[in-house]
Amino acid sequence: ADTGAKVEWNGVGVLRDGLRVKVVGNVGSPADATAAAERGAEGVGLFRTEFCFLSASTEPTVEEQRAAYAAVLKPFAGKPVVVRTLDAGADKPLSFLDPEPEPNPALGVRGLRVAVDRPEVLDRQLAAIALAAVDSGAEVSVMAPMVATAAEAAWFVSRARAAGIARAGVMIEIPAAALTAREILAEVDFVSLGTNDLAQYVFAADRQVGAVAALNDPWQPALLRLIALVGEAGTQTGKPVGVCGEAAADPLLATVLVGLGVTSLSMNHTSLAAVGAKLAETSFDVCQLAARSALNAHDPAAARLAARAPH
Ligand code: PEP
Ligand code: MG
Repeated sequence: ADTGAKVEWNGVGVLRDGLRVKVVGNVGSPADATAAAERGAEGVGLFRTEFCFLSASTEPTVEEQRAAYAAVLKPFAGKPVVVRTLDAGADKPLSFLDPEPEPNPALGVRGLRVAVDRPEVLDRQLAAIALAAVDSGAEVSVMAPMVATAAEAAWFVSRARAAGIARAGVMIEIPAAALTAREILAEVDFVSLGTNDLAQYVFAADRQVGAVAALNDPWQPALLRLIALVGEAGTQTGKPVGVCGEAAADPLLATVLVGLGVTSLSMNHTSLAAVGAKLAETSFDVCQLAARSALNAHDPAAARLAARAPH
């Protein structure tokens, strides 16, 4: 089985033929960060900062944020860490940022949209992240959630640069952003695909509703075709394209993602070794063949089978 028990992995993401693919962790707390570092994560591809403040009823001060972020960054001194700015709203409500009640919170003011309404909250967070980067010694980039357009991406990057943060990127988790990946990549240093939300929005299937979960299967060919557009744009521009949704944690799907042009995979610490080991036994041309077969499949089950078939 692809997620089999004991797998050897030396903590460097590399394909069988030597091509590098970064294998990094998703974290939201100091405990997560320690676990990811201990299990060989080369860095962090997604630090969900909203997880630090789920119970806060007022906005944490810059100093409170600085301390919370530095505690998570510390195990990754000298390593790359992508800090996502607050993704409040919908499935991750933050009481100090809750918008007016909305009929469809997943389609409302969430993620970067909150910051557009209240830029001072974003600026205080960016200032705290810049300070925590110095405190921890981690190589920090920032990333915005829920970006729909290149103009939003450019706006976020300009705020990050004003805060003294050198590297800034955005998540691709809205279909419009995937369709305009070339324009977005022109504005940012990197992108990272949030496949959980990208699936939700491309299938119009709420990620919190079990009855529609089959539509949100990360092997859906429609989702893979959107990812392929982003991978191609990344290959053309030479800028990194990550995946930090659940899709990255499935070893066989990880090979498909690499074949689609993805250059880093970020996941829960429990999946690092299995994904690292699978990449080590797979060459890039096999990844590309698996990707092509999965893209052309008619449904998720067929995509899984096609990716597994000997090429
Ligand atoms: C995603 O949407 O895939 C993602 C990584 O972000 P989150 O799950 O935190 O919304
Ligand atoms: Mg998301």
